[in-house]
Amino acid sequence: MTSDFDSTADSRSGPSEAAAPSWPQLRLDRDVDVCVVGAGLAGLTVAYELARGRLSVAVLEARQIGWSASGHMLGTVRPGYGVPPTELIERIGLHHAKDLWVLSSYGADYVRAIAAQIPELAIGEGALEVSTIESGDQLIERLTLLGNEFGTAVEGWQIEQVREALVTDRYFHGVYYPGAFQLDGRRYLHGLAALAAQAGARIYEGTEVVSIDPDGIRKRIVTPQARLRASHIVLAGNVHLGAPHQRLTDTLLPVWRYAGVTAPLGERLAEAIRFSGSVADSHGIDHFRVVGEDRLAWSSPETTFSMAPERMAKSIARRIRTVFPQLGEVAIERCGCGVIGQTVHGMPQIGQLQHGLWVASGFGRQGLNSSALAGKLIAQAILTGDDRWKLFAPYELVWVGGNIGRVAGQAISWATRGHAAAQGAVARYRERARARQLAREERREAALAMRNAPPAEQPPPELTDAAAAAPARDNVSPPPR
Ligand SMILES: Cc1cc2nc3c(=O)[nH]c(=O)nc-3n(C[C@H](O)[C@H](O)[C@H](O)COP(=O)(O)OP(=O)(O)OC[C@H]3O[C@@H](n4cnc5c(N)ncnc54)[C@H](O)[C@@H]3O)c2cc1C
Repeated sequence: MTSDFDSTADSRSGPSEAAAPSWPQLRLDRDVDVCVVGAGLAGLTVAYELARGRLSVAVLEARQIGWSASGHMLGTVRPGYGVPPTELIERIGLHHAKDLWVLSSYGADYVRAIAAQIPELAIGEGALEVSTIESGDQLIERLTLLGNEFGTAVEGWQIEQVREALVTDRYFHGVYYPGAFQLDGRRYLHGLAALAAQAGARIYEGTEVVSIDPDGIRKRIVTPQARLRASHIVLAGNVHLGAPHQRLTDTLLPVWRYAGVTAPLGERLAEAIRFSGSVADSHGIDHFRVVGEDRLAWSSPETTFSMAPERMAKSIARRIRTVFPQLGEVAIERCGCGVIGQTVHGMPQIGQLQHGLWVASGFGRQGLNSSALAGKLIAQAILTGDDRWKLFAPYELVWVGGNIGRVAGQAISWATRGHAAAQGAVARYRERARARQLAREERREAALAMRNAPPAEQPPPELTDAAAAAPARDNVSPPPR
């Protein structure tokens, strides 16, 4: 088993294993307008935008482009953030929440526009968010909010429609986002790097930033082999940033998220999953889509400590079997993981920490649209003084509590999953109980109809017996299933 995903060039492909170009190490001192620390989605977007604006930009990457979260994502692009829209409104009010939501949609549109410039990067349309509990009322509330207030194209799917598309009793209602899409995330990332380089950005791999001095007009950046001076520094190192700004790093809870791709599943996959877009449950536990002809890319377990991705393959296979038991045994052919940075409030960190020192991190599980937005906003701020990044000001940097925070984070994750599983089990039990009740009522009505029906000329004796027996049988509750 390799530690990465495969790719075919079609729109349903998963993250790609195509040989990535490598970039040089920084060995000579340089003077630039902007130094970007970290070449993930956020760092490369800001570098591309600044280079297009004709600033000199150096991107310093400690390892290789895409070794962490940005190279292992499932590639689903949707408006919004890791926080439900209702929580946004509760915290900052409707008007402000709307502004932030519009920006998140802008981030998704930006990814689509960039993807159109990347050769052989196809796009698959549509994403479905499904609930693991019966949530008809909440669904209507959500649709009204997203559609009417936030102007997002959404459709509500009733239980039957969800189960027509996804043959499982685990899911109930759904919210379909027709404007959402998915792409091969790894191919997107390397395409973005190529665009940034074409625009003039210098990208360096194997170049860890070990310290920065952000005071003064010209800021200093130290790497093991060379130094840089820049007017602006953009910290886009996510949870990996470390020493250059430990206090910032300590505001992110590192969460390892794992994803795998199954061996070909043949026709049984098309029978179980008849939906071609991405699917995610509303608790953020499972996220999957069909890739290639008949494989399933599935992202699920999370830990707050590092585990070899190969060891999580069994957990992924178990999750798939739990949701789609009809698929039987599934083999996970490739498995990978990336570390996402989770903030305490669930919103990304986008803004200026002090003059010329910028931060773009904490994108959580929904990093494609939000990192694109961060890159664009910060570049616009540096190039034109655009201050829309201040819309994120209510979401300050909050310490996550170091190792204690990690333990608490893992406990909360288990509790949330346990709670979600319990709620799901109750919802399914209620659904079965309702089905039994319905069957009982149908039998009672049938029996009454027969009893009240005028006698037929020559009723067959067994029919009369059955009709007479039915009401009595109905008084006996069927055994619980
Ligand atoms: C399994 C999985 C599936 C996902 N699926 C989706 C999805 O479908 N849709 C979606 O929107 N999001 C998804 N995400 C989330 C998304 O991948 C992340 O939010 C996003 O990639 C974060 O990007 P980033 O640039 O902030 O961080 P990273 O990708 O972590 O990049 C940060 C980079 O900075 C470098 N760096 C750090 N410190 C230094 C330093 N001191 N010197 C030099 N370099 C440094 C690191 O080496 C790293 O390469 C998924 C994540 C995972 C793990």
